[in-house]
Amino acid sequence: FTLVDPLTGPGKGVHFSDVAGLKEAKQEVTEFVDYLKQPERYKSLGAKVPKGALLFGPPGCGKTLLAKAVATEANVPFLSMNGSEFIEMIGGLGAARVRDLFKEGRKRSPCIIYIDEIDAIGRKRSAGSAQFDGASGEGEQTLNQLLVEMDGMASKEGVIMLASTNRGDVLDKALLRPGRFDRHILIDLPTLEEREQIFEQHLKGISLEYSPKHYSKRLAQLTPGFSGADIANVCNEAALHAARYKQTVVRGDNLECAVERVVGGTEKRSHMMS
Ligand code: ATP
Repeated sequence: FTLVDPLTGPGKGVHFSDVAGLKEAKQEVTEFVDYLKQPERYKSLGAKVPKGALLFGPPGCGKTLLAKAVATEANVPFLSMNGSEFIEMIGGLGAARVRDLFKEGRKRSPCIIYIDEIDAIGRKRSAGSAQFDGASGEGEQTLNQLLVEMDGMASKEGVIMLASTNRGDVLDKALLRPGRFDRHILIDLPTLEEREQIFEQHLKGISLEYSPKHYSKRLAQLTPGFSGADIANVCNEAALHAARYKQTVVRGDNLECAVERVVGGTEKRSHMMS
């Protein structure tokens, strides 16, 4: 797994202010930040904070970004692992990895444990997906270990578990029971207004002919259905386009070309998936 130290790690830059839009989601996770900053205050009040939350919604809309921002804002380590990494393991290694992850989490408390793509390990056991069909029942062992670790973790331990999925519907019910991932936070595709904010955020990072505000509204109107990742991609493509033509600044026409390129890419993707 990856460990990001809040003071030295690469995630240190991600603050709430870097996550555009997602106002309600930010409000929901604020309680975790507050708790991680002063777990004693909660302890002395006898208040039990939820052990974690499931961030769900379409790809590229800011789940990982938000989870990292919680760690940065609370100034605690961020331990992360991708669900698919557990699944590649054989011979009980997946379950051992889960144990190690939680052991490290306890050692570094207060901290955040983040499991990206939790559906890779947390699929419904009855779904009969290939990963659980193996003779070793590797996937099932890993999921069971995760449940055991979550149950074993007292809420006073100062470890907050965040997990993300694009497929909340396929998750095993056991994962969603009270005391586990019982809080669900939707991270949906951005609205028109949110797209405008995300464009402003990402346009700040490139040299533009005019200010970001000059372009953001129009770009948001041109991009219904785009995720935050698509928007970040548009901004980068526009800068590459400008570089290709040896320009010194990025102009509106570069941005419009980039939108078309990314629209082409997303259309191809959805065509391939259907
Ligand atoms: P996945 O389900 O594919 O893991 P995700 O929801 O975790 O996706 P992120 O990794 O958080 O998505 O986002 C990908 C990139 O898209 C971010 O690094 C960032 O550049 C951009 N992005 C997404 N959402 C936002 C947002 N709300 N504000 C600013 N940038 C965003």
